Amino acid sequence: MNGAPLTEIHMFAGICVFLLGLCIGSFLNVCIYRIPMEKSIISPPSQCTGCGTRLTFRDLIPVLSYIMLRGRCRYCNARISPRYLLIELLTGFVYVIVYLRYGISVETLALLYLFSILLAVFFIDLEHMIIPNGLVLLGMAGGALVMVYNLFVPFSLYQPSRWYTPLIGMVSASGILFAIALVGLLIYRNDGAMGMGDVKLFIPIGMFLGWKLALLSLFISVMLGGITSIVLLVLKVVKRKSAIPFGPFIVAGSFIAALAGYDILFLRLY
Ligand SMILES: [Zn+2]
Repeated sequence: MNGAPLTEIHMFAGICVFLLGLCIGSFLNVCIYRIPMEKSIISPPSQCTGCGTRLTFRDLIPVLSYIMLRGRCRYCNARISPRYLLIELLTGFVYVIVYLRYGISVETLALLYLFSILLAVFFIDLEHMIIPNGLVLLGMAGGALVMVYNLFVPFSLYQPSRWYTPLIGMVSASGILFAIALVGLLIYRNDGAMGMGDVKLFIPIGMFLGWKLALLSLFISVMLGGITSIVLLVLKVVKRKSAIPFGPFIVAGSFIAALAGYDILFLRLY
């Protein structure tokens, strides 16, 4: 078979996935801004956070509008945070990476859904130190669909795939974190070390990834969190007592596990 047409189709699909990621990223910006304030993410339509002017289509084209307006509002000239641009591009790249790994498949669709939610969690927890229950529930709803799908067609992220793999996934990593939180509460009397949001976040992650990759996600996120904390302490960016949100590390850890989990577990590092 001639490989060239296939490659072109894959290139085209990859570009489409990237553009879709930019658009979803644009919507995630709205979610990240509004959910912590308990505002609706649908209405009112997007407004400038400075002057409140309702934004039109030409102000809302992902990436392009930001560049053409040079990061300022068309109406009041207020600076627009480069974070909006960053989140759009990041979502685009996350989408492409998932597509390159799993191709056109149910697995890709499932992971795009999961990581759209987790990207919102990443930035909301980073800024506000909370993981909204609504996002966890949305994740669980998607996880339930994956569970049902897995009853008929083996979901390839579960290796091996059994009907109960996502059920163990739900309680494995979240159960360990819950136990740690309980010990911290009972022995050390600190209730800030491990938030219940982190425990809950591992419920949908376990449903999507199964228990093996969920536990690996936990391990990687603890490693990433530990290393980052040490670096920040040494650089005196944070003080010993100040809390660092764990959610962003869970998101990063589960992303690594979802893409390369079994290569890491089986040491397939060729
Ligand atoms: Zn404005």
